[in-house]
Amino acid sequence: MVTSPLLPNLKDFIPYLEKIWQNKWLTNQGDFHEELELELCKYLDVKHLNLFSNGTLALITALQALRISGEVITTPYSFVATTHSLWWNNIKPVFVDIEPETFNIDPKRIEAAITPATTAIMPVHVYGTPCNVKEIERIADIYGLRVIYDAAHAFGVKQNGMPVVNFGDLSVLSFHATKVFSTVEGGAIVCHDEKVKQRIDFLKNFGFAGETTVVAPGINAKLNEIQSTFGLLSLKIVDDAIEKRKKVAEIYRKELANIKGIRFLPEFPDIQHNYAYFPILVDEREYGMSRDALYETMQRHNIYGRRYFYPLISNFPTYRGLPSAQPENLPVANLVASQVICLPMHHELRDEQVNGIIDLIVKNCK
Ligand SMILES: *Cc1c(COP(=O)(O)O)cnc(C)c1O
Repeated sequence: MVTSPLLPNLKDFIPYLEKIWQNKWLTNQGDFHEELELELCKYLDVKHLNLFSNGTLALITALQALRISGEVITTPYSFVATTHSLWWNNIKPVFVDIEPETFNIDPKRIEAAITPATTAIMPVHVYGTPCNVKEIERIADIYGLRVIYDAAHAFGVKQNGMPVVNFGDLSVLSFHATKVFSTVEGGAIVCHDEKVKQRIDFLKNFGFAGETTVVAPGINAKLNEIQSTFGLLSLKIVDDAIEKRKKVAEIYRKELANIKGIRFLPEFPDIQHNYAYFPILVDEREYGMSRDALYETMQRHNIYGRRYFYPLISNFPTYRGLPSAQPENLPVANLVASQVICLPMHHELRDEQVNGIIDLIVKNCK
């Protein structure tokens, strides 16, 4: 039972491909690229959005667009690309521990990590649960810091009706095949201002501002026409897929509620969720089996959960030498990383399969 990516109907894809073949325009801000940017602005309820060939290049470019340098405060509990994007910009990552309730960066610990070299905060809306955006904004305003959200998990998520990607100076989405909405590979930067949008347009196209002017050492991170049409078609079916994910989450929630040693995120009533992931934490002492043992038992039954995020970014050889990467600085993140399994979660999971997963988890409880 491997994850199912969201795939548009193949028959619907053919006419779009025929149009691309007729237009003979394959990339570089083609019509479908422009259309997808507009449609995503409407769907996400944001003012400006720049498509990218992947989320990692969007993160790297977001930092470039705001000329971030020195030190950036971030979370170790994320996908490695979050920290890699800092490294690719010669920025020193400074890790801050997470909240046990949301697994997001703990705002109470941010101020202690600020130094004269700090220029920005890069939090992650982990599993699509919004960060404490108000508190992060308050700190950023006091210290004159920029905020760039890694919103790779937060496609379509709203808090009190507000799109979460509207918070911060910039928010970065990923449209990788494993995400709720995909363009096979892809990503985007959400910004608030026409001028920033234009600058990002230059940066993702080698820095070209017109035919003969290069204004920055930009990168090539353009999304092509074929993937843009894949996105246009996926956008039409994504609501239905989210609805199906929601049903899966509801079954997990109901059936796993009273199992000793299994914990999961509460439902936050003010949040309109995208049900991207369903993480559980396994407490070995109460459950009677370790996270890794349960993970391997699941695999033997062809159930492929993911230890996502394990290992922590701060424990990878590349980053573990940093002073802020020391486990004593990050007790909550280290604990959660040692207990987490993301259960299978996609729009094609059938009730019997979900119940099979639950039965296995129940059966192994001591
Ligand atoms: C998927 C993901 C990324 C990277 O996106 P790509 O499109 O795969 O480059 C970055 N951050 C987080 C939290 C992600 O889950």
